[in-house]
Amino acid sequence: MARLVMKFGGSSVADLDHIRNVARHVEREVKAGHELAVVVSAMAGTTNRLVEWCRQAAALHDAREYDAVVASGEQVTSGLLAIVLEDMGVSARSWQGWQLPILTSNAHGSARILDINGAELIKRFKERKEVAVVCGFQGIHKETGRITTLGRGGSDTSAVAVAAAIHAERCDIYTDVDGVYTTDPDIEERARRLDKIAYEEMLEMASLGAKVLQVRSVELAMQRRVRIFVRSSFDRPEDIDPHGVPPGTLICDEEEIVENQVVTGIAFSKDEAQISIRRLADKPGVAAALFGPLADAHINVDMIVQNISADGLTDITFTVPIVDYERAKDVLKKVKAKVGFSAIEGAADVVKVSIIGVGMRSHAGVAATAFKALAERGINIRAISTSEIKISILIDAAFTELAVRTLHSVYGLDR
Ligand code: ADP
Ligand code: ASP
Ligand code: MG
Repeated sequence: MARLVMKFGGSSVADLDHIRNVARHVEREVKAGHELAVVVSAMAGTTNRLVEWCRQAAALHDAREYDAVVASGEQVTSGLLAIVLEDMGVSARSWQGWQLPILTSNAHGSARILDINGAELIKRFKERKEVAVVCGFQGIHKETGRITTLGRGGSDTSAVAVAAAIHAERCDIYTDVDGVYTTDPDIEERARRLDKIAYEEMLEMASLGAKVLQVRSVELAMQRRVRIFVRSSFDRPEDIDPHGVPPGTLICDEEEIVENQVVTGIAFSKDEAQISIRRLADKPGVAAALFGPLADAHINVDMIVQNISADGLTDITFTVPIVDYERAKDVLKKVKAKVGFSAIEGAADVVKVSIIGVGMRSHAGVAATAFKALAERGINIRAISTSEIKISILIDAAFTELAVRTLHSVYGLDR
């Protein structure tokens, strides 16, 4: 017998038929004797609709009321799944974030989980043999008592946090793909499923655009040593041996992975925009004069490139989240006279393609391979940034698929 968390995302609970399918997955694990906390997302499309309603109600709205609205999607799914399970003869009850409770910070719209009462769930596993169906994505702020949500994709983080709180053996993330692939299988059909991926690599993949897991869920799993297993909910529950090893990807310590490739995966993100500041003085303090006001406006700057100046004047190019693009340009316009530069240029139709792998720590030439391969395809590089285990390259969005496929193939990742 094991204690497990099973998390089902939006496409896995898209309608009642899907919810019935999920219930059969749950029943299978119950019959195998496991203690289960099941974390569910809102039905596919629901959260988008709720977000849009808030926007239509008032472009500038209270973040606390936004949370009250968008948290409702998960409430529906958890109740429906509990009803279906009970109907099948599986003892179950639903738990909303405030009922457990899942205590969070008060950063409405992107709250952090602070504490979960796992003891109550464990007690009920023992006393009632009851499956806990927990709403993903939502929590409650302790002092204000207001409902909070964890940011888009946040049910993954709920699942990992519940797994840590109940000391689960594993956190199974059921989704519409049967694991983590070397790149988004929607874009490259030759992408391969990875049997295992290291926490550090998954963290980079997720933060650089692979939306299969929310970034914070991987961070939390790494801190609390929760083993995440990404697998498909679309397999027929009856075909799965609960004691066997199903297809999927285990996210685990680097040491557990025997066969280390230099490059593990390629990710991409269209969530950033490029800004270039032309002809500003190349002297101490100008970078601070530009980036200080952006930081004060809570705008994150990511890739930064500065030219070497020939005539005492230089250009600086950097990226900001696309949602902050217009605001960033406004902030910069305000400091233009004071800092002294000739123009602000920008582009929103860009994509950041990233190459990720822990093997890069000990291998030279990974970046050179990418630059050569992209050059051969006529793809121009706008900016580059690197860390120990990743290289990110900013290019025109029109080349997204070509760049992803080229890099996927050049590092030997094709199936
Ligand atoms: P859920 O609704 O279950 O939370 P998501 O849509 O959030 O599912 O995440 C699953 C999707 O992530 C897949 O359909 C896939 O298109 C996308 N994805 C992006 N990169 C990867 C990757 N490297 N491996 C697997 N899936 C990926
Ligand atoms: N329903 C929320 C969203 O769509 C949370 C999740 O699915 O993980 O972002
Ligand atoms: Mg998701």
